[in-house]
Amino acid sequence: MIFDIRNETLPREELAELQLHRLRATVLRCYETVTFYREAMDELEVKPHHIQSLADVKLLPFTKKEQLRDNYPYGMFAVPSHHVVRLHASSGTSGKPVVVGHTRRDLVNWGEMGARCLAAAGLAPGDRLHNAYGYGLFTGGLGLHGAGEALGLTVIPMSGGQTQKQVMLLADLAPTAMSCTPSYALNIVEEAEKLGVDLRKLPLKVGIFGAEPWTEEMRYELESRMGIDALDIYGLTELMGPSVGIECLEGKKGLHIWEDHFLVECVDIDTGEPLPPGEKGEVVITSLTREAFPMLRFRTRDIAVLEPAPCKCGRTHVRMSRITGRTDDMLIIRGVNVFPTQVEAILMRTETLSPFYQLEVFREGHLDSLRVNVEASPPLYAKGQDYMDRVAAKVKKDIKDFIGISCEVKIHPTGAVERSMGKAVRVVDHRNEKK
Ligand code: ADP
Ligand code: ZN
Repeated sequence: MIFDIRNETLPREELAELQLHRLRATVLRCYETVTFYREAMDELEVKPHHIQSLADVKLLPFTKKEQLRDNYPYGMFAVPSHHVVRLHASSGTSGKPVVVGHTRRDLVNWGEMGARCLAAAGLAPGDRLHNAYGYGLFTGGLGLHGAGEALGLTVIPMSGGQTQKQVMLLADLAPTAMSCTPSYALNIVEEAEKLGVDLRKLPLKVGIFGAEPWTEEMRYELESRMGIDALDIYGLTELMGPSVGIECLEGKKGLHIWEDHFLVECVDIDTGEPLPPGEKGEVVITSLTREAFPMLRFRTRDIAVLEPAPCKCGRTHVRMSRITGRTDDMLIIRGVNVFPTQVEAILMRTETLSPFYQLEVFREGHLDSLRVNVEASPPLYAKGQDYMDRVAAKVKKDIKDFIGISCEVKIHPTGAVERSMGKAVRVVDHRNEKK
């Protein structure tokens, strides 16, 4: 079902007209109300009236995460505080978090984009959504919550953690949809199997998974063990939160980005130059309707490809491929760029392994080295060390053949790799640790 038939299927020319109109208004407001934007534009000698076409977006300065941190907490807000009805913050693993505000109108728009996403996943009033994203400053919990309510679903605000209870409620309350990170979904699946609950026999039909990179192989794993369709949803605190885009159930290939609210570009990671459609680069997003926290050309650090070809669902909004990784998580091992998802794909194709893994990076002298920690499935573990060594050697060879790097592969007993409650920690970097 399409929630907002008019806007989601707007002919491209009309969509472009609407985008330009909204872009110009956003740029003007940023320039007039946020000192940071005014200074950044003045430095490049760009004035709001220079934006005459959508292509002119490239005249505008980029906004980077560090700059948001420098303006912590309220420096980027474009409305007086009495218009701000909610704050959220990104996790801030390195230093201060980024604090983002929402007006009433922002929350209504967020809810509507969320409703579009859940409808694109095949849901409608009468469906129940078990929401296992964490509630709080993190946008996942309240984001999906608002989405469900805006569509008229029954929302079960479970939040993250208490994994046994998650399984009990999935069985007892009979939700037809659930939302969480894919790594947490895997944790729930494992717990259900331990408790003897077969998720495939429950009414659950769709999983809305996002907030971290994951692979087609992981989709297959989750779909087959849960008996559902697993869809990828994308978003980020700086631009709103989850529901910036989602895969449609019909296409299941690429996430429709709601282009009447966001202008999306793909640029070269190093030079920042716009790339033609179909080329892989960093996703850059400008908000078109946000009131409290408008954003010009935000460098998301997320790597993907934009696919402008029409989709069979009838929506006209551009599709973004899965995020292959964040530039922050990109490892450079002896000159070769590696994303954890590339390793994930290989591990998940190796049937005797459990799908839990973590990468460690070390520095020996001037050279970086990688250790892949993964778990044996119980039958593999039962076969003994020699057999596991052979599997490890095969995985090591596959990683060499497909990714081009040499690494150590360590297969641990089942249960040894840390389980995720939200965003999984895929990389542990020992390079800057004091010896
Ligand atoms: P933080 O940057 O602290 O993790 P957020 O919770 O706002 O803050 O997370 C947003 C980020 O999460 C995105 O920039 C992206 O890297 C990642 N992300 C969100 N959804 C997806 C997805 N579907 N696939 C891959 N990565 C995602
Ligand atoms: Zn589609």
